[in-house]
Amino acid sequence: MGCRTRVFEDRHGEKTSIGRGNLSFTTINIVKLALECRDIENIGEKKTEFFKKLRRCINVAAEQLYDRFVFQCTAVKKQFPMLMSGMWMGSSGLKPDDKVQNVLKHGTLGIGFIGLAETLIVLTGHHHGEDEKSQELGIEIIKFMNERIQEKSEYYDLNYSLLATPAEGLSGKFVKEDRKQFGSIPHVTDKEYYTNSSHVPVWYKCSIEHKARIEAPYHEYENGGHIFYVELDGDATHNPAAVMQTVDLMDKYNMVYGSVNHTRNRCKDCGYEDASENLTQCPQCGSTDIDTIQRITGYLVGGVDSWNEAKKAELSDRVKHSL
Ligand SMILES: [Zn+2]
Repeated sequence: MGCRTRVFEDRHGEKTSIGRGNLSFTTINIVKLALECRDIENIGEKKTEFFKKLRRCINVAAEQLYDRFVFQCTAVKKQFPMLMSGMWMGSSGLKPDDKVQNVLKHGTLGIGFIGLAETLIVLTGHHHGEDEKSQELGIEIIKFMNERIQEKSEYYDLNYSLLATPAEGLSGKFVKEDRKQFGSIPHVTDKEYYTNSSHVPVWYKCSIEHKARIEAPYHEYENGGHIFYVELDGDATHNPAAVMQTVDLMDKYNMVYGSVNHTRNRCKDCGYEDASENLTQCPQCGSTDIDTIQRITGYLVGGVDSWNEAKKAELSDRVKHSL
């Protein structure tokens, strides 16, 4: 699972992220749920139907994760020579043929989502970065998910959590399916990717502060993990003030985890480095063997050419955020 994964609260022990982890996660395509309601004209009825569908999906996801957990618990200690050697909480006391249920119960089961921005465009005509009413509905949706997932924790007596899914592969998969079924819809299915979790769309031009103010309220509900990021203009390595200002904004809006995105090119032949856009030839030695590093979901990854088509399309749509 991704770097944004947050494992902390534990209904079976102390709050800690040491000696435990996320066991499995399942992502709900909330854009599709909205698309299924788009022909309902009355906005109140449309919302009611959307929440009904969302509740049903959370039920299915929770049950599926539970079934998977039950299966995982049929394993015995000796199948995990490293993890169960004491690395995982409570594993050192087990005998080789003991089942691992009492260890795995400390793990988390994540229910995630993708494309809040597109969902809101379908439901209201606007995403949360451009409209206060959409922002209110966005928070209502994510709070609703958090509350239903907490109920699942009680019901199954397991650590269910709400995850702002990174969706590296799903980013393109869901939109392709939905385009087949619902056609090409502007700012929803007319591109190759759905927006990462509760982020404002990558193509939406706004200040870092606006982005932080809009995205921060979701973090408290996304207890299984989330990330905030901004696209910095120019060469961040020579602009530590911009990085510090971003960190200050995260602090001001009480965000837990964030990152600064910036391009880094490196010539594989002579080692020349810069931060220019779309560099294809080294200005120092003329080589075309350039490695470009950018953030894909949470990680800075080189070899942008090898990214999947959805993430490449998303990268080329990204706009810089001003301070
Ligand atoms: Zn070079």
